[in-house]
Amino acid sequence: MELFFHVPTELLLGGGIVAKSADKLARFGKRALIVAGRSADKNGALADVYAALDSSGVSHARVMGPKPNPDLADVQRIVDAGRDFKANFIVAIGGGSPIDAAKVSAALLAQGLNAADLLSKTLKDAALPVVAVPTTAGTGSEANSYSIITLDNPKQKKSFLTPAMAPRLGLLDPKYTYSLGEVQTASTAIDAMAHLIEGYVREGRTRVGEMLALEGLSRLALCKDALLNKEYDEETRGNLLYASMLGGVLLAHARTVAPHQMGYQLTNFRDMPHGQACGVLMASYLEKMRSGCEEQIEKLLRALGMKELSELKDFIAKVLPPHGAYTREELERYADACAADALSKPNPAPMDRGMLLDIFVESLIED
Ligand code: NAP
Ligand code: FE
Repeated sequence: MELFFHVPTELLLGGGIVAKSADKLARFGKRALIVAGRSADKNGALADVYAALDSSGVSHARVMGPKPNPDLADVQRIVDAGRDFKANFIVAIGGGSPIDAAKVSAALLAQGLNAADLLSKTLKDAALPVVAVPTTAGTGSEANSYSIITLDNPKQKKSFLTPAMAPRLGLLDPKYTYSLGEVQTASTAIDAMAHLIEGYVREGRTRVGEMLALEGLSRLALCKDALLNKEYDEETRGNLLYASMLGGVLLAHARTVAPHQMGYQLTNFRDMPHGQACGVLMASYLEKMRSGCEEQIEKLLRALGMKELSELKDFIAKVLPPHGAYTREELERYADACAADALSKPNPAPMDRGMLLDIFVESLIED
């Protein structure tokens, strides 16, 4: 048997975990750049991080987090702030957008590069340490090296990574997610589900991956009623955050497959939230891939407490907001634009451009 399984991040989850981990922060240096958007001012995460850094004698400066789906300008703003402050490490607070932007900025800072260099240079394996404090429960970005950045001409989401970009510490407190709105909660939960499913069914799957996926999906199964009724208690928020983290750990050694690449089109050109964009395509994708992952589909449905893919499709549709109207011509464009990336992924069964279009059409026109 062969296995490559690298879990570089110390992940701590629980109520009050930032305060309890104050002494761990000082080991990364004396000057922390905090990357945090406005929501962190309201959900308590920023205040907790300030208090923890103060109590361990770490000085800090805050730069505003990026807009959702960060671009190179967002990254450069963080790099400039880190350079001005002479930061030794970065504390990223928020969803996947600030955490991803902070991770790649940490690499650029350590390597004396700027955001534009991402277009022409390959990153070396060096980065300032990053501490991630997630406030959404979906991306799992706290647990892996990926940083997804939006590029222009043509507009696309591209992942940048080097192992050193994985956060050194992830501090997960479910209470920071209580303030998420209905759409953000649902979309990020479905993103976590997509990571767990895609990382599981892909070609080259491992037993460790299966354990992570089925544990994460079982936790999501406990959240089904809450997601349908849009009422979340503390236990559900904890389960969602834990499932999201497991999805992030899974992605650290098993990358996503076609639904993520396809979903990026819907985010780039229709502004659909990331998790919704991947989730809306999922049931149709799995149906097309059935020949290569029959057993995995059966196990993942069982973990979710479901019997058929049609049940998964109904569930995702009920949980997410309406996806809007699409034309076949538009979906043709998206299939063309994502074909190179989506078809190069380790999808569990053979795929072609026609199949990509069929998935888009079945999911967005014929559903
Ligand atoms: P996000 O883009 O980080 O945040 C979406 C919105 O939610 C923002 O307006 C944010 O406000 C707000 N928000 C965050 N936490 C909140 C809270 N507790 N209460 C209220 N509002 C809150 O959303 P995301 O879905 O977590 O991240 C999506 C990004 O992650 C995409 O770029 C996607 O490509 C990437 N991604 C990365 C990975 C990975 O493994 N690295 C995996 C999947 C997706 P603020 O202004 O405060 O930020
Ligand atoms: Fe995702």
